[in-house]
Amino acid sequence: MKLKKGFGKINYLQDLLIKKQISCFELTEKYLKSAKTVNKTINAYVKITEEVAFETAKKVDDKISKNIRLKPLEGIPMSLKDNILTKNIETTCCSNMLRGYIPNYDATVWSILKAQNAVLLGKTNMDEFAMGCDCKTSCFGPTKNPYDLDKVPGGSSGGSAAAVCADISIYSLGTDTGGSIRQPSSYCGVVGLKPTYGAISKYGVVDFADSLDCVGPIASTTEDIAVIYDSLFQRNQKGNISSIENKSIFTFDALNRDISGIKIGLPKQCFISLEKDVENAINEAIKIYKDLGVEFIELDMPIISYALSIYYALATSEAVNDFSKYDGIQMGNRTKEYINGVDKIAQNRASGFGNEVKRRLLLGTYILNSNEGKKYLEKSQKIRKLIAESFDCAFEMCDVILTPTVSNTASKQDFVPKDQMQSYISDICTVPANMAKIPAVSIPCGFDSEKMPIGMQLIGNKFEEALLLNVAHKFELASEYEFLLNNEVFASL
Ligand code: GLN
Repeated sequence: MKLKKGFGKINYLQDLLIKKQISCFELTEKYLKSAKTVNKTINAYVKITEEVAFETAKKVDDKISKNIRLKPLEGIPMSLKDNILTKNIETTCCSNMLRGYIPNYDATVWSILKAQNAVLLGKTNMDEFAMGCDCKTSCFGPTKNPYDLDKVPGGSSGGSAAAVCADISIYSLGTDTGGSIRQPSSYCGVVGLKPTYGAISKYGVVDFADSLDCVGPIASTTEDIAVIYDSLFQRNQKGNISSIENKSIFTFDALNRDISGIKIGLPKQCFISLEKDVENAINEAIKIYKDLGVEFIELDMPIISYALSIYYALATSEAVNDFSKYDGIQMGNRTKEYINGVDKIAQNRASGFGNEVKRRLLLGTYILNSNEGKKYLEKSQKIRKLIAESFDCAFEMCDVILTPTVSNTASKQDFVPKDQMQSYISDICTVPANMAKIPAVSIPCGFDSEKMPIGMQLIGNKFEEALLLNVAHKFELASEYEFLLNNEVFASL
């Protein structure tokens, strides 16, 4: 089956299951087989959970044989980023610090999915503790971009995006603190949603920076994203953030609404130093929207230019406190060689954390403890507030905001940035949405001259996921964009 433009894999596969054209066991078998083979080349999975997958598939087949109605994600093969706690299944955050850690409870998102009999194929690769943008800081080695094995898949949810892109997972859950769902989705030509902060529970998801972290779906199309979001959107669950009830409309039902007359804002600060191919693809997308009757306005939001600079102060200082528990005593890596108690902790941390995590913890410690650092942090918090206010103003003038997801396409695996700032810069358009706690989605909008995917970002107002996915879906239907990659398993069904 060739994926029909704009339509999702999830509903299609469920239909096959219900009509008994394939059993869930067979479907799972096909995906596991392909996952094991393809993973040898792309290293998107750090663990394949075959037993769990088959056990669930049998339960689903049992329900189908009794004609019991399936829940929306029931029987669909999927994966979870390795910072999402899975009871009795190792969860490492791809760090030597947590190797061998077997959680004794499930993250809320996984318990929701488990209750729906989602078929867990495995845990996906990521930058260590979600700090990074190329999936190269994992202790299990880098993930490769399925479009070009010499290129990075992006990060930190690079394993999830690559697995969906290579059709070895129908969908995956990732996390996004400054762009970690959207940037790899852009590099791998898939759709990734960072929801409104608090819309999806992050209870049981390992913290990077609590006030910025969000859990969200990565999938092939916006229809799939809507199905997943609707299942995970928290209504009265653990970690619920109040005041969300009034916006609890199902995004799936809104996907096909007419978007003529809506206003999209283009913040000029996000349109500087774009690669030529990215600029062309975005301009093309704007044309498509204009044909759909959308109106565009230019936005001047100078404050968002500071988002990336304050991100590193806010995120690293938040991480410092939370990461103090990884001392090898409360939890984490233990070494045998140490001189005394203090040295024991130092050695446990030194051998458990990789360089990027250490760099961030050093920066965060400096910010929290030096006078200059404290002043910088205070200013950063003020600027964060101004960024949120600037989005509030923007949403008085427009309904949705459009930017490139990243100003470039995936870089080579062996690309070494001149300095660390050069690698941090890829998040310049994604970080502002985390600052303002608003939702943003990345959708594919073309390819560069080397046939690498380009992503477009749509940003919405708080809890406006329905409108956001509606606008994204309409583009998907109207655009020329087609999957270049052969989705082998799906195509055979
Ligand atoms: N790339 C950014 C960083 O390294 C964002 C990470 C994330 O969103 N988890 O901090």
